[in-house]
Amino acid sequence: MKKVAVVIVCLLAVAVLTNGCCNVAAKRDEARAKACSANMRVMQGCIEMYNMDHSEMMKTPEFSMFQEGGVMMQEKLLRQPIQLPSEKCSYLFHGDFSIIDDVPEAGVIKCSEHGSVADIEAKYSRR
Ligand SMILES: [Zn+2]
Repeated sequence: MKKVAVVIVCLLAVAVLTNGCCNVAAKRDEARAKACSANMRVMQGCIEMYNMDHSEMMKTPEFSMFQEGGVMMQEKLLRQPIQLPSEKCSYLFHGDFSIIDDVPEAGVIKCSEHGSVADIEAKYSRR
């Protein structure tokens, strides 16, 4: 009878530990996704500021502009280069960033791993 009790306690301990691990992993994923979303917002903001200051607007930005020595750093629109929250993140710039209206042709930044800011918000919004 005692053996059964010991086995049950062990199983419970394993269950608690595994659950704890999964929660930690999920929290880390969420933190990375949110950092990724913050990056995309910063980049979008930089492009908008750049376009307000320049008569020739930036239509098709690329990630190198947000890196050390890139145009956004040179223009002092960005204080620090954009860091990737995870090695799986890779930013893609779709559409025309000179369009400010909310139309399908307007520029959108997407992460290959996490999707757009809207995708991340939809996934991690408080349930
Ligand atoms: Zn990402």
